[in-house]
Amino acid sequence: MKSYQILQIPRRARVLTPAHFGCLEGIPTINITNGCLFQCAYCYARGYSQAPQRGVVQLYINLPRLIKDELSRKKVVPQWVILNTSSDCFQSHPDILSVTYEVIRILLDHGIGISFLTKGLIPQPCLELFREAPEKILTQVGLVSLSERYWKGYEPYTPSPEERLQNIQKLRGIGILPEVRIDPIIPFVTDTESELKRLFGRLKELEVKKATLSYLHLRPAIERQLIKELSPLHRSLIESCFRSQEWKTVGSSTKTKLLPKAVREKGYQRIRKIAEEFGIAASICQCKNPDLKGDLCSSGRVKTRLIERTAAQLPLFQC
Ligand code: SF4
Repeated sequence: MKSYQILQIPRRARVLTPAHFGCLEGIPTINITNGCLFQCAYCYARGYSQAPQRGVVQLYINLPRLIKDELSRKKVVPQWVILNTSSDCFQSHPDILSVTYEVIRILLDHGIGISFLTKGLIPQPCLELFREAPEKILTQVGLVSLSERYWKGYEPYTPSPEERLQNIQKLRGIGILPEVRIDPIIPFVTDTESELKRLFGRLKELEVKKATLSYLHLRPAIERQLIKELSPLHRSLIESCFRSQEWKTVGSSTKTKLLPKAVREKGYQRIRKIAEEFGIAASICQCKNPDLKGDLCSSGRVKTRLIERTAAQLPLFQC
C-alpha cells in the first residue's frame, strides 16, 4: 500500500488457544497482526468487525513475550501451531518481520511445528531458522496466476508472482518443498487452459508436487470490496457468475455464496487434469467446497500428523 500506518499494540488475550473452526479445529492459531498490508480485493478478513480501517495494521508487539510466558506455564506444549488465519506474517515491513522472526524462533526452540500460507517473501533469517528443522515446517505459497493483469487487479500490494516463485525456490534450497494454494480461482480469468498451463509449467520447473484449489466465493464484505476495487469488466463478470446463487452457511460463515456446483465440479476436474499433465496432484479445498468431495490442505494435514503421532504413542494392546 502506498500510504499505511503500523500501530504497535499489546495483545491482551491468551495466544496458544485451540481454534474452533473447520480444518483448524483444536490447533492453536496465531496472527502477528490484525489487518494486512497486502489488502487483497477478495480477502475475507478485511470484512471482520474487529478489522482495522484500510491503511492501518495493528502489530501485536508483545506476542513473543506472551508466547514465551504461556509456554513456560504449560505442562503440555502444542505440537503444531498454524500462522496466518487472517493476516500474513511475511508482510513487507521490518517491524512485522522482526516480531514474526521472534515468534517462529520461540516456537521452533520448543519443538513446535508451524504451518502457514503466505503470499509474502520469507526473509533470509527466517529461512535460516527453517533450515534447522525442515520437518517442523508445513508451508503453502499462495499463487493463483502468473498474469500481471490478475495480480494488479486482485492482489496489487502483494509481492509479484515471480517473487513468490523465488520464495518456492529458496524453500526448496533448504529442503522444504512447499505446496501451492491456488485460491481464489477466478472463473474465465485464471482458469483458462493457457493460464493454467503457464502456471503449472513454472511450478513443475520448481518441482512442486502438490496444489490445493478453490474457486472464488463471496461473503457480503468480499462482494462489497470487489465491487469497489475491481475494474468494471471484472466486476460485471463476477456479478454474472454469482447472480443465480443464494447466500448459505459455509463453515463458520453464515452468509457465503459459492459458484454453481456444476461450474466448480467441471472446473476442478479440468484443472486437476491439466495439473496432472505437469506431474502435480491438485486437490480441492474441502472447507470451501463442502458440497464436493475435497481433500485436506496442509492445515488439515497438521491434524493428520497429530493423530498419527498420538496413535504411534498408544500401546499396541490396551486392557
Ligand atoms: S494476504 Fe491473506 S490476509 Fe493478507 S490481505 Fe491477502 S488474503 Fe487477506
